[in-house]
Amino acid sequence: MLELSKYTKELSKLFSGSENILLVCHINPDGDAVGSQLALYHYLKTTGKTASMISPNNLQEFLKWMDGSDQISIFIKDRKKGKQLIEKADLIVMLDFNQPNRLGEAEEAVLSSKAKKIIIDHHLDARNFADIIISEPAKCSTCELVYELITLMNEGVFLSKPYSEAIYAGIITDTGNFEHGAYSGRTLRIVADLLETGIDRGKILNLIYNNFSADRMKLQGFALNQRMVVLPELKSAYIYLTRQDMADYNHAKGDTEGFVNMPLSISGIVFSALFIEKEGFIKISFRSKGNFPVNEFASEYFYGGGHLNASGGEYNDSLNNTIEFFLKMLKQNFARFNREEQ
Ligand code: 5GP
Ligand code: MN
Repeated sequence: MLELSKYTKELSKLFSGSENILLVCHINPDGDAVGSQLALYHYLKTTGKTASMISPNNLQEFLKWMDGSDQISIFIKDRKKGKQLIEKADLIVMLDFNQPNRLGEAEEAVLSSKAKKIIIDHHLDARNFADIIISEPAKCSTCELVYELITLMNEGVFLSKPYSEAIYAGIITDTGNFEHGAYSGRTLRIVADLLETGIDRGKILNLIYNNFSADRMKLQGFALNQRMVVLPELKSAYIYLTRQDMADYNHAKGDTEGFVNMPLSISGIVFSALFIEKEGFIKISFRSKGNFPVNEFASEYFYGGGHLNASGGEYNDSLNNTIEFFLKMLKQNFARFNREEQ
């Protein structure tokens, strides 16, 4: 908290001195990206500032219940409006990412803007493309970090229902409802404050987690049954899905969210990968338990990165070749990444 206070004076000054504040989340935004964006939006509104918001691409259905989400302009849907908002902005706050390519197709417009830029994020290895970088990898979520910053700026806990719901949504989605991630006693104290504003925890859980289509459940069953490979000797497992598999189950955006976590429920498995065949490349997600650094694995071999236990990357080859390369790199380097044993 003390360390964060070095930012908040300047942040308050920038917010009150800016006419056109723009809040931007990352491509394929998750609950933490949209939650932190909306939380800051709701807070600024009570200080008399109506910020604009952009997401590089569409929000998934399970986030559209959030108060204010209909105010988020989708860059790929309305580039003209998106570019206008970026051009007009004198302050741009980027939330929940620290690599410029996470801006998707809005990257060029945002980076070339003359606005003052702030990054608020909790991922490792921040790239320097902003004037102020508030990077706290020890926080479980950008929402927790935004909560701390706003508490300092507000000189006391700021609570309102839409704000509390947004922060809560970000914390639960980034920790898998308190199953994983860097959450702490402090996180739970924050959650206690949020619950006391009367947010409906059961309702939010249902909206986020119990909102799947039947097709998605069937795709999950198929993935586990037909497309999971377990490698006990490497304490690893992976799942792959072809474009045809996805078509067979009427795949909708976001349907494979969470699949990569499933193999980690197998006793003795510490590393899991999910390969999704896209048009012209393979998108990969990595998850681990303990000290297996998937962010290093992703950045060394798959042009990616992320957190110690949750990362992603991609590979420009066929699904078969990608998996072959993955297996080769895993076998060669398993001992180096499997830090549990050392
Ligand atoms: P997911 O597997 O849910 O897509 O991503 C998990 C985490 O990995 C994200 O929070 C993000 O930090 C990171 N990540 C996913 N894909 C990429 C990528 O292509 N590049 C980088 N640098 N990080 C990624
Ligand atoms: Mn996050």
